[in-house]
Amino acid sequence: MFDIARIFENTGSEMDISCEMSPESTEGLKGIAFVRPPSLTGRVRNCAGIVTLSYTAGGTVVSQCDRCLKDISREFAYSFEHVVVRSVQRDNDEYIVAANDELDMDSIAVDDVLLELPTKTLCSEDCKGLCPICGADLNISACEHSDPAGDRV
Ligand SMILES: [Zn+2]
Ligand SMILES: [Zn+2]
Repeated sequence: MFDIARIFENTGSEMDISCEMSPESTEGLKGIAFVRPPSLTGRVRNCAGIVTLSYTAGGTVVSQCDRCLKDISREFAYSFEHVVVRSVQRDNDEYIVAANDELDMDSIAVDDVLLELPTKTLCSEDCKGLCPICGADLNISACEHSDPAGDRV
């Protein structure tokens, strides 16, 4: 939690944000495993009375290839920007509300990162996958169920 009361109160002020997502907060993310909690770095600033948060979430995820089930680790860095307000605005529900002037980076980042993470994962575009009959990894070797041309029978 970051207390940003002084940012709301002082036009032109800014504050650096640097933290890690808590391990608990990443548990609900589509069953994707993080090698370590993603780091969040950025800045909150009050520009002419409008408070904006811009930050980058970076880390490494491990997920399974949808075809061959191999674990793939991949680095990511996603950048986000939001307008932050002190209370709910009727005309715009895309703003982030800082209840009690506190910025809950965990919950903000969970929502943001969830939208960016790909729903499909392939170890490579031409992954051959597993044989549906014997389960052999066809990237490594053909099995008796696949013909030499590569078409599965
Ligand atoms: Zn694969
Ligand atoms: Zn087979």
